[in-house]
Amino acid sequence: MIRELYQEVILDHNRRPRNKGVVEGGAYAHGHNPLCGDDVTISLLVSDALISNVAFEGRGCAISTASASMLTEAVMGKPVDEAKEIAEAFVAMITTGEAPQGLGELEALAGVHEFPSRVKCATLAWHTLEEALLKS
Ligand code: ZN
Repeated sequence: MIRELYQEVILDHNRRPRNKGVVEGGAYAHGHNPLCGDDVTISLLVSDALISNVAFEGRGCAISTASASMLTEAVMGKPVDEAKEIAEAFVAMITTGEAPQGLGELEALAGVHEFPSRVKCATLAWHTLEEALLKS
């Protein structure tokens, strides 16, 4: 069953994280998951109500790294309101195990629902994103 959790798309994002780094001059927030030891910092720039740049930095397990990497691709260039909706939909998916329409490759993480100890790994970056948006 654990194999099903680590789908290829998750492994790929873990091996080659997208948008890793810091957005200079951006708003940022830091998140920590003491259950697993995951650390993530999300930095982003908002201009004209769009997320014009977003990046993440941190150390963590494959699930937390892949989730943060997929997050940056999912919200890059999106209106802030839409990014918040994606974050809410993602957290709801992990909590309920039901993937809504339109989350794209983020749906690969829906299986995390079956592993309660990993839920915080998957949602960490998204809660951190919401915090960073509040500061932007
Ligand atoms: Zn973790």
